[in-house]
Amino acid sequence: MKKILLIVVALFLLVSCKQTATIDPEVNSVYYEIYVGSFYDSDGDGSGDLNGVTQKLDYIQELGATGIWLMPIHPSPTYHKYDVTDYYGIDEAYGTMDDFDKLITEMEKRDMDLIIDLVLNHSSSQHPWFTSAVDAYQNDDCDTVKYCEYYHFSDEFEPGYASNGNIYYEAVFWEGMPDLNLDSEQLRNEIEEIAHFWLDKGVHGFRLDATTHFYREKTPENVAFLQWFNRTVKDYQKEAYIVGEAWTGDSIVSKMYESQIDSFFNFTMSQQGGRIAQSINLQTGLALANYVKEYQSKIESYSASAINAVFLSNHDNDRSAGYLADDKQKMAASIYLLMPGNVFIYYGEEIGMRGSGIDENKRLPMVWSFDDTLTNPPQMANYEFDQPNSVEQALKDEESLLKHYQTILKARNTYSETIARGDFEVLEVDKTVYALDYGDLIVMHHLSQDSLTIDLEYKDVEVLFGEVDNKSNQLTLNGYTTLIIHR
Ligand code: CA
Repeated sequence: MKKILLIVVALFLLVSCKQTATIDPEVNSVYYEIYVGSFYDSDGDGSGDLNGVTQKLDYIQELGATGIWLMPIHPSPTYHKYDVTDYYGIDEAYGTMDDFDKLITEMEKRDMDLIIDLVLNHSSSQHPWFTSAVDAYQNDDCDTVKYCEYYHFSDEFEPGYASNGNIYYEAVFWEGMPDLNLDSEQLRNEIEEIAHFWLDKGVHGFRLDATTHFYREKTPENVAFLQWFNRTVKDYQKEAYIVGEAWTGDSIVSKMYESQIDSFFNFTMSQQGGRIAQSINLQTGLALANYVKEYQSKIESYSASAINAVFLSNHDNDRSAGYLADDKQKMAASIYLLMPGNVFIYYGEEIGMRGSGIDENKRLPMVWSFDDTLTNPPQMANYEFDQPNSVEQALKDEESLLKHYQTILKARNTYSETIARGDFEVLEVDKTVYALDYGDLIVMHHLSQDSLTIDLEYKDVEVLFGEVDNKSNQLTLNGYTTLIIHR
């Protein structure tokens, strides 16, 4: 009996060791983007929730993510929640502040960083700031009500304005999202308080929505505001991390780095027409490597500590499984997940989820298992796509995209200080080869189906994807390979 018990205990230890055996990265540089409403519903009420995220932390960590970006969690009348009615609260569909605290505690145990979406370009038209301001404006009471200066009001129509009776207000996106007047000192005090509130809660930082729209695409004004916000956050918490959405061309994005905001998303490499997908289709690895180097130099010319924020798709984009075949999905994953900077994985991309067209289709419920009934969160109409895979199935299949993500991210996390933050040069091998040379190691992808033999001095080769024949100082790369070469 004692013997059996010992065996059981030993087996249990083996299993639990396996489950907790995650790489402790030198640098947390892998974020997992979650639309909470569609991620995991912990209580069966039809909406994904914060407890659902907490319950799936092991999954996220085993994938190889070291941080999470939560799309807006604040109370909001819409399903997407980019129109906030209370910047200090948690939307009741997602749970309670206690649930949020629990999530933070569980993430801290795992040394994972949480960043939350902060929407400063506009509030909801149902936010008490706005409804009070409209009342005051109507009653000629703006001398005593500070909220009037939080927004841009006018007695007559102007481009980008919406109307409420005979009052006009700036609302560039939609009448339900009045633009905030970020010049208001009182609003800035409020924003400072909001940022401090969430930093005190334990968040590691913020993802800033729509930063180019803050001053209606006036870059110097946007930079000045972001500079103020960055100082406000970093003076309070030096290690905080901020990543901005500036969905525009590289020349403007580079200039935005002058604000010293840590990161801006690189849209040029993302999506179907972006440089990652195109370099795979055209087999132009060298051109992609040259771009990565040039872009890094450019953003560092504005901010010495600039961290590129790389992604393949996000909640506003068509999912990549719709335009990349299986092998190319793996190739694309290898490329973006081993890029310098921080990388952002949109939930579901790792199982090849599908979704395109209108926004709701890009934010469909995560397919944990085909046994579960998939329900869209409340207020989100019944959109659906045929989903090719589930997490349950992918975990059992050694050849799955999910396993590929795990392999690549394990390598990234093992050498994260070098791959994510190290200085690098482009190694010219062939026009089909992407190779970044960090000195002690080289990250290499061969973006062609043909084989290629190269002469190179090396100590050791780790093949992460595809096949490589190695003889002394000579490597033959077969089609679609990813390798880490140690010098
Ligand atoms: Ca729920």
